[in-house]
Amino acid sequence: MRVLGIETSCDETGVAVYDAHRGLLAHRLHSQVALHAPYGGIVPELASRDHIRRLTPLIHATLDDAGLTLSQLDGIAYTAGPGLIGALLVGASVGHSLAWSLGRPVVAVHHLEGHLLAPLLESPALTPPFLALLISGGHTLLVEVRELGRYRILGESIDDAVGEAFDKVAKMLGLGYPGGPALEKLARAGDPARFRFPRPMTERPGLDFSFSGLKTCVMNTLAKTAATDQDKADIARAFQEAVADTLAIKCRRALRQTGLKTLVAAGGVCANQTIRQRLQTVAETEGARLFLPRPEFCTDNGAMIAFAGCLRLQAGQREGLAIQARARWSLEALAPIRS
Ligand code: ATP
Ligand code: MG
Ligand code: FE
Repeated sequence: MRVLGIETSCDETGVAVYDAHRGLLAHRLHSQVALHAPYGGIVPELASRDHIRRLTPLIHATLDDAGLTLSQLDGIAYTAGPGLIGALLVGASVGHSLAWSLGRPVVAVHHLEGHLLAPLLESPALTPPFLALLISGGHTLLVEVRELGRYRILGESIDDAVGEAFDKVAKMLGLGYPGGPALEKLARAGDPARFRFPRPMTERPGLDFSFSGLKTCVMNTLAKTAATDQDKADIARAFQEAVADTLAIKCRRALRQTGLKTLVAAGGVCANQTIRQRLQTVAETEGARLFLPRPEFCTDNGAMIAFAGCLRLQAGQREGLAIQARARWSLEALAPIRS
């Protein structure tokens, strides 16, 4: 089965073709970073309009890369949520129209299930049960995956998502949008011994997170310095260390609590090398295996949607003509993927 995946939930237009037997055949991404950069954040209406402009040419280019024509597709998968509603509607409308005109089945994919299953794209040996850490621009979740499609949220952020904290701190340090990659780069020049920020909510039991206090810490610390390039690098380093440590502590706790021996981490923030290394250390000391997507499949992409959609289509999941787009959608509301 060959599935076309369409991702338009936020500021990236992603398209991919996944083949159930041969794996990923082609994938392309158009990032809107340059479009939104002058505004310091994503402008939803501009995002929707750009998806409209980019999506169809991107689908044709991806099919060309794969050496396929539209009629050689067996199904279509599109991101139905959560995300920006206008942006989601673009992918949903195009996905449904294509499926209808080709007479092929279509399936709505949960964006976070896409992120969460992205490590399976390149590691077919990875099977549930496993513990998943999902750290992205809008979410921070610890999820117990007993079975594909059946997700139990063990912990989440009570305020900012990790990626959001990276973006806001980057803004304070005068770095551009999106801030995560820029902050990581700046932190490399930072002195790890100069500042130490708290590891929020690690002192008390539980698996929830909080990152807004760290943001305030950064603001107060920055105000006490002359805000030189070195000051900023030192602060970036301390912030990244605090986040990496906090995530590691909670993952270790969740592994022990659940008795699971496999840790999967996904979402845009997993592109961060310090965080990847820290999670690797946790896995080693806990005798667990760690699975991470390669960095380009950590952030938004069409490949993860084509893959998750293919699993659901293979399991017989089909949709009617009604277009689905949901700004909010709980992972726990999904049906298990059983063939
Ligand atoms: P969600 O998936 O929750 O709907 P999203 O799709 O916007 O949100 P992703 O595309 O998964 O999120 O990830 C984007 C986030 O990842 C941004 O907040 C960005 O700053 C962060 N990020 C990307 N690369 C890095 C990095 N190297 N270090 C830290 N953060 C990073
Ligand atoms: Mg993005
Ligand atoms: Fe995402």
